[in-house]
Amino acid sequence: MQTHIESLRTAPLAPFLHIIDGRRVAASDGGTMTVISPIDGSALTTYARGTKADTDAAIAAARRAFDDGRWSDLAPAVRKKVLLKWADLIEADALAIAVLGVRENGTEIGMALKAEPLSAVATIRYYAEAIDKLYGEIAPTDPAFLGLVHREPVGVVGAIVPWNFPLMIGAWKFAAALAAGCTMVLKPAETACLTLVRVAELGLEAGLPPGVFNVVTGEGAVVGAAIAESMDVDVLVFTGSGGTGRRLLEAAARSNLKRVYLELGGKSPNIIFADAPDLDEAAKVSAQGIFRNSGQVCIAGSRILVERSIHAAFVEKLSKHAAAIKVGDPLDGTTQAGAINSERQLMQNLAFVEEAKANGRSVIGGERILQETGGYYMQPAIVADAAPQDRVFRDEVFGPVLTVTPFDTEAEAVALANDTAYGLAAAVWTSNLSRAHRMVRKIRAGLVHVNTYGGSDLSVPLGGVKQSGNGHDKSLHAFDKFLDLKTAWVKL
Ligand code: ADP
Repeated sequence: MQTHIESLRTAPLAPFLHIIDGRRVAASDGGTMTVISPIDGSALTTYARGTKADTDAAIAAARRAFDDGRWSDLAPAVRKKVLLKWADLIEADALAIAVLGVRENGTEIGMALKAEPLSAVATIRYYAEAIDKLYGEIAPTDPAFLGLVHREPVGVVGAIVPWNFPLMIGAWKFAAALAAGCTMVLKPAETACLTLVRVAELGLEAGLPPGVFNVVTGEGAVVGAAIAESMDVDVLVFTGSGGTGRRLLEAAARSNLKRVYLELGGKSPNIIFADAPDLDEAAKVSAQGIFRNSGQVCIAGSRILVERSIHAAFVEKLSKHAAAIKVGDPLDGTTQAGAINSERQLMQNLAFVEEAKANGRSVIGGERILQETGGYYMQPAIVADAAPQDRVFRDEVFGPVLTVTPFDTEAEAVALANDTAYGLAAAVWTSNLSRAHRMVRKIRAGLVHVNTYGGSDLSVPLGGVKQSGNGHDKSLHAFDKFLDLKTAWVKL
């Protein structure tokens, strides 16, 4: 495999264009943006810098495609067939797509292959296979009437996605929406859009009718804002920062009150009790739970809360695992943490580490490394004694920066865990079954792991509470965002 990766590493890349109404199109004003590879800081290629006019054209195409029923009126089994073909095409091209994504966003190839094209393949298959097995309802009414509950596609969906896992997160949204019969305009992030364009091209090859799945690349403030402001987008799904999430809600309120579903990251607590079944395993999995993909993971377990009696010993175990993580060239199959997505993100991460040091905290690792490559790399960082008032304890870093904070009692652990504006994920490590279930109830988060971290599959929902957002990706519940209920009330 490594030989194949090496041949793809330097493959020249033609400029990438939007996919609008079944065609590849340049920006209306000819504008482009340059892709800088985080592997070595080199310019990889360009993509279309979308304008408001481009975005409106894509929305109009999606509107026409929805309204004339070319997709929504097909039998679900027919949509399924196209989607399954699409998944096969992506699978056949998975390694090339994964390498393309890594060259653009820096994720280590082992993870990128599984979590990006192959995860998109699995997600497309899951929703394709599900869609012809969903039934409506007959209500238990007075027999003089018939109450039918239909499930109808909501219409045109706008999707705005981030740079950490563009295909995985993108597919959670587009696979469910398209299977449901909706049409879509998707805006990828500025630093991770090439693979989504490639996958959209394969969708056309698989037989998605023109206008059903449009991808418009460019800046959030232009393309994303035009989607959010549109009167023709019925539902907006988003994964990204809280600041952008607020802007999207405002835009929806100013325009057509489109429904907005947000996934806004987290500051997820990972709680280690002294009675954890295996503290070595807990340390190893917890290190992976923050340091894989260099911490650029929404559900990253970025705050360890550890029972005071084992604080020092656990920090030592964590630092051993952190030091063993091989950071470097993301296209080397043995690398465990690749490049940071962008120079801006690297600088933000390092600023958190510097601030913790300036506050007198004990920090292990966290140095910039491999600067001679021209790329953006840093060692995992552990802030061994973070306090609840520290910014590094409260704000999402979205990098390989882990805080550790001791607690004395179960109640204190719950209070510290919930002392955050976020509520996406959490974990509890204990061999006390009752305590585990008590903690699951008391922690305000959409996903609570017990004696593990990460790795949950497509069959369970992912969504946040509090300022981590609303709505759910994954599982059959994801369809709720894309299927409306309609009642037919019939006098017999
Ligand atoms: P991050 O800080 O992780 O990059 P953002 O929220 O800025 O998070 O980015 C997530 C997605 O939101 C990206 O696709 C980005 O282009 C888009 N985006 C950024 N600003 C806006 C905006 N004002 N309106 C709509 N989308 C935006």
